[in-house]
Amino acid sequence: MVRALVVRKDEDSGKTSARVEDLAEDELPHAEVTVAVEYSTVNYKDGLCIGPGGGLVRHYPHVPGIDFAGTVEASDDDRYKPGDKVVLTGWRVGEAHWGGYAEKARVKADWLVPLPEGLDTRQAMAVGTAGFTAMLAVMALEDHGLRPGSDPVLVTGASGGVGSVATALLSELGYHVAAVTGRPETGDYLKGLGASQIVAREELTEPSKKPLEAERWAGCVDAVGGAMLGRVLKQIRYGGSVAAVGLTGGAAIEGAMVTPFLLRAVNLLGIDSVMQRYDNRVRAWQRIARDLPMQKLEEMVETATLDDLPRLGEDILNGRVRGRVVVDVTG
Ligand code: NDP
Repeated sequence: MVRALVVRKDEDSGKTSARVEDLAEDELPHAEVTVAVEYSTVNYKDGLCIGPGGGLVRHYPHVPGIDFAGTVEASDDDRYKPGDKVVLTGWRVGEAHWGGYAEKARVKADWLVPLPEGLDTRQAMAVGTAGFTAMLAVMALEDHGLRPGSDPVLVTGASGGVGSVATALLSELGYHVAAVTGRPETGDYLKGLGASQIVAREELTEPSKKPLEAERWAGCVDAVGGAMLGRVLKQIRYGGSVAAVGLTGGAAIEGAMVTPFLLRAVNLLGIDSVMQRYDNRVRAWQRIARDLPMQKLEEMVETATLDDLPRLGEDILNGRVRGRVVVDVTG
């Protein structure tokens, strides 16, 4: 039997409900590699998929969990053999395909990455999709010329998963980090991760009619979007870049103008962690193993079990989760 968090849909009412169940092994989807899952995590998309799906889930019953790390149990693909440690993010696993909230997952070999040396499966999931995305964002900013200097790099939605890892990572790489949060009580936590400056969310969500504002930031990792992104673009230094990662503050870029692009050569870089090429995924995971301070990561991690997931799904959608939540699938 395979213990899993299963979301079922009542065909008459259309309502979904999630609970932990024991599934027979032959109920798992067929795919090249079977992984004994050790850890998964709780991300914003998981919150959506534990609930009514938000348009992400293709078929019910469904097992959510957009990322996982574990050990290969069986493989029809030469690249993986039993005993190999692997990590998975993206590829619509946990949305269109059954994901990591189960003791076993069956997936395509193409979607996996070997666990990099220096990381264990728990650490990999302390990073998880949010941290992997933060790494991709930092790599994109660096590819567009960002280097440590006197101007701070802004991180929005800083107390969330992407924001917490981005703050720790940028600070470790020698950048001054200005962390934007709507939760002032997380100030000490963010300073502990390496933020040198805390910025109140309202300071950057108040609309401004100005085409440009004073150049305040060398670059930005933006997990929030909405009015915040519209405003931040006007404050980026000449030639700087914003890596747009998320939309917890809204999908429309309110108050945005073309002036930062025309008069300051600002770049808006889209970050998509889902469809990343294999070589890029490997490069990002190797940099995570090399550059991310694991002891800082421990400070931002809470551990949960499959039974906690219905509650945690609601919490993350309501902005109540701080840092990262690792799910011990075997716990
Ligand atoms: P979290 O819920 O952990 O963090 C989001 C943070 O955004 C919150 O902690 C809060 O930070 C801030 N926030 C929440 N609501 C609002 C609001 N209404 N206005 C302004 N700020 C708000 O989510 P994640 O960090 O895991 O993900 C962040 C975003 O990135 C999500 O939209 C997610 O879907 C997306 N994402 C995208 C990926 C990609 O491939 N592009 C991959 C992973 C995530 P604070 O309280 O500090 O202000």
